Amino acid sequence: MDKILRVNMGAKGGPKFTVEPIGVYTGLGGRALTSAIVSKEVPPTCHPLSGTNKIVIAPGLLSGSIAAMSGRISVGCKSPLTGGIKESNSGGQPSQVLARLGYAAIVLEGKPEGDDLYTIYINKEGVKITVNNDLRMLGNYDTVSKMKEKFGDKIACISIGPAGEMRLPAASVAFTDMELRPARHAGRGGPGAVMGSKGVKVIVLDDTDMPMRQPKDPERFKEANKVFIEGLLKHGVTGQALPAYGTNVLANILNEAGAYPTYNFKQGTFAGVAKISGETEAALETERGGVPTHACHRGCVIRCSGIYNDKDGHYLSKQPEYETVWAHGADCGIDDMDKIAMLDFLDDNYGLDTIEMGTTIGVAMEAGFLKFGDADGAINLIHEVGKGTPLGRIIGSGAALTGKVFGVERVPVVKGQAMPAYDPRAVKGLGVTYATSPMGADHTAGYATTANILKVGGFVDPLKPQGQVELSRNLQIATAAIDSTGMCLFIAFAILDQPETFQALIDLLNAFCGLSFTGNDVTEYGKKVLTMERDFNIRAGFTKEQDRLPEFFKTQEIPPHNVVFDVSDEELDEVFNW
Ligand code: SF4
Repeated sequence: MDKILRVNMGAKGGPKFTVEPIGVYTGLGGRALTSAIVSKEVPPTCHPLSGTNKIVIAPGLLSGSIAAMSGRISVGCKSPLTGGIKESNSGGQPSQVLARLGYAAIVLEGKPEGDDLYTIYINKEGVKITVNNDLRMLGNYDTVSKMKEKFGDKIACISIGPAGEMRLPAASVAFTDMELRPARHAGRGGPGAVMGSKGVKVIVLDDTDMPMRQPKDPERFKEANKVFIEGLLKHGVTGQALPAYGTNVLANILNEAGAYPTYNFKQGTFAGVAKISGETEAALETERGGVPTHACHRGCVIRCSGIYNDKDGHYLSKQPEYETVWAHGADCGIDDMDKIAMLDFLDDNYGLDTIEMGTTIGVAMEAGFLKFGDADGAINLIHEVGKGTPLGRIIGSGAALTGKVFGVERVPVVKGQAMPAYDPRAVKGLGVTYATSPMGADHTAGYATTANILKVGGFVDPLKPQGQVELSRNLQIATAAIDSTGMCLFIAFAILDQPETFQALIDLLNAFCGLSFTGNDVTEYGKKVLTMERDFNIRAGFTKEQDRLPEFFKTQEIPPHNVVFDVSDEELDEVFNW
């Protein structure tokens, strides 16, 4: 993994590629690499859909090896949704496959002159770029089917749906899972629109005959991997709750904590939660011949994913995750699990971020455009987006724009990006993360639910402002480092609670890369990534005024705790003062 594939989509006479050594980016992977390339090479004030923006797709430092959980892949660009730097990451197979093909990153740059759509095929022989207009406006599922017919089933795909082709700010980039379904997505911040602006519909990867990436110290690596896996399997969250019920195990927990945003962030509990909880979802999956425990890529031992079948036992979608079930469920007052699974499938197929779409529909419901609870109306709205009707293009542009179009005050966004499934008034550590992350409102950027709600890695009272800045700061730093390794963020539960599992992660990195990193070095690595990202945003014109939650969170109390977000602006400005 010592080379970078650059594809200039705007080259004279059609796209041209070069393969170059990783050079100045040596030692960087995943988010560290995408953010370094975007920060160094993209003009911060450029239009996100212009030829000067780039989209960078990078496996993590450990991807392509036998390290458990190392199959996350990062997508970076200037975001069409936030206007700032973006790193959005996903599971699925492409990270492992791309890493085994030897690429630290694919960089798509420039802009084609015409409106042709391209396929990029990469295998051990090299790279082929072809015009493939037959794929125009196909959903991700049909696109991948066509690639399977053409290239066989030993491939992994990275694709966009119609939303990406239309360059909508909520468009995702899809990654195929082990069953070659385009069900894993880098959704946040609209990277699909940037891939669409480059005219690239699908990247097909085939690592046939390519070996696993080998560690510098195989014995130490093998031992560290063993300890790491044991640590994940013995922790209650990673060894039991997530495999049994998926991420949606959080629905009942957040609802009981009064922090489950309902009816467009009006209240913290949802009367219909039992119908859409992780426990209900897993029971339905088992009953209908689906799968409640499933890995999104080879080497995942937590297996938080699943397969959700319809009433007749046919595949409907992958197991909708907690965020999706909440966004299309409680936030819109919808308690019908089958309808939510259908919305999940449609988002995946059209290539849309489920969090942005659910929250946006919640805002449209607040405006009275649809009634809360109208599941069929929500499904129709997603079809409007997929068809590209004028209304669909508004919805597909996200919650901030939709709120303006419909004249809504309560619009839960930061830096233009929709807020996920934890009310910041009742999980204040996450409120700090939403406000200050360079990514916009993003729970994964500093997942304070750990100490605020789950009592993992200590306890900080979620309803009080004290301690939240420090909690969010430490988590944002750790996350920036983890996102660079290719490790799934869910390892955080075990490494926060079990020092030996954290040490095993560091041992894995050291044995693989031939390093002698300590915990402090990992912290410094995370700080470096965040500093680059914040620097890009400052050069793009962001000020501390963008590191704030919308005003209503400070003035409107949320029941049942009847609290507001009361971490002061001065404290928020201290998050990155290290
Ligand atoms: S824990 Fe879940 S999201 Fe993470 S790698 Fe495994 S299946 Fe994918």
